[in-house]
Amino acid sequence: MKKNLYKKTVLITGSTSGIGLGIAKAFAEKGYNIVFNGLEKNGSEISLKIARKYQIDHVFSEANMLDPRSLRDLVAQSVSHFGTIDVLINNAGIQHVSPIESFPEEKWNDIININLNSLFHLTKAVWPHMKKQRFGRIINIASVHGLFASEFKSAYIAAKHGVIGFTKAIALEGAPFNIACNAICPGYVKTPLVEMQIGDQAKIHNLSEQDVVSKVLLKKQAVKEFIPIELIARMALFLASDEATTITGTAMPVDGGWSAQ
Ligand code: NAD
Repeated sequence: MKKNLYKKTVLITGSTSGIGLGIAKAFAEKGYNIVFNGLEKNGSEISLKIARKYQIDHVFSEANMLDPRSLRDLVAQSVSHFGTIDVLINNAGIQHVSPIESFPEEKWNDIININLNSLFHLTKAVWPHMKKQRFGRIINIASVHGLFASEFKSAYIAAKHGVIGFTKAIALEGAPFNIACNAICPGYVKTPLVEMQIGDQAKIHNLSEQDVVSKVLLKKQAVKEFIPIELIARMALFLASDEATTITGTAMPVDGGWSAQ
C-alpha cells in the first residue's frame, strides 16, 4: 500500500457491486483514496483487491443506508483515517417493481430511506469538512427515472425525483464554499439491480425475460443497448475533476437518448 501522502479521498456508497464498483475502479486508477461501502458478503475482499491492484489506501465499511447513526459513523471513521472527504458519491440504491395497490409499505420506506434519505444524512455529515477546506464534490447517482416516470416503480421514481431536487438545493448552498453538487441520470445499466427486476417485469407484463429487455427496459432508450458502467464512471470522474469547477446543480443524463424524447 502507498503511504497516505495527501491525495484526494472519495467516499462511494454501494461500491462493492454494479455502478458503484465501476466508479470505484475508475477513481482508484486515478490514485484517489477510497472509502468503499456496500452490503455484499465479500465486500471487504472486493475492496482489498482493488486497493492492491491500484496501490491506493482504502477503508471498507458495511454501514447500512437505513441507519443514520451508522452513516454519521462512516463519515467520522473516514475522516479519522484520511483527514477529510473530498468527494462524496451517493450511489447505493435498491429497486422494487410492483403496481401501487400491492406495493409493500416496507419496500416504500426502504427505497425512500436508502435512495433518498441517506443522501441527506451523508451530505450533512461531510458538509463541515468540505466547507472548512473550501472544496467538495458531491455526486448523486439519480436515474433517468429522476426525470421521467415509468409505471410500477412509484417509490423509486419518487426517491429519484427527490434526489434531483436535493442536488439543486445543495448546489445553491455549496456554491459559496466551492462545494459542487451534481446528479448523474443513467438509463439502463446491466447490474444485479436490473437483472433482479427482469423477472418481476416478466410476471407483471406476462412476457418472456428476453422480451422484457427489448420491449420494456430498452423501449424508451433510442440507443437499444445497456449503458456501459464505464461511461457512468467517467462522468463521475469528470464531475469530480478541476475541469468541472463551475458545473453544479445539474442532472446529467447518460441514457442512450431516453430523455431526448
Ligand atoms: P447494484 O445492486 O449492483 O448495487 C447497489 C449497491 O448498493 C450494492 O453495493 C449494495 O450493497 C448497496 N446497497 C443497497 N442497499 C444498501 C443499504 N441499505 N446500505 C448500504 N448499501 C446498500 O445496483 P446498481 O445498478 O449498481 O445501482 C447503483 C445506483 O445506480 C442506484 O442508486 C441505482 O438506483 C442507480 N441506477 C441504476 C441503473 C441501472 O440500470 N442499473 C440506472 C439508473 C440508476
